[in-house]
Amino acid sequence: MLSKGSGWLMIIGTPITVLGTVFLIYTYDEVIRRTVVPLSEELVRCALCGKLTPRVAGINPEDTICSRCKKEVSRGIRRMKKKKRL
Ligand SMILES: [Zn+2]
Repeated sequence: MLSKGSGWLMIIGTPITVLGTVFLIYTYDEVIRRTVVPLSEELVRCALCGKLTPRVAGINPEDTICSRCKKEVSRGIRRMKKKKRL
């Protein structure tokens, strides 16, 4: 009696587990897509190198620069400040 019962559970349980896993992967994928898309939807060209970069809210698209150029600009400003001191 007991072995018969667990056998039925196995038959019913396996597709449910598979469906559950597929559902989890699907919802996870959907969540990732939803969090990524709003960022990549508004792409503007970097004012310095022309590379596509996500638009920053509150900043004019013409003045938007990518994170790489931002780093280089800040490094350049720091260098200029050092030169002025010397
Ligand atoms: Zn750039």
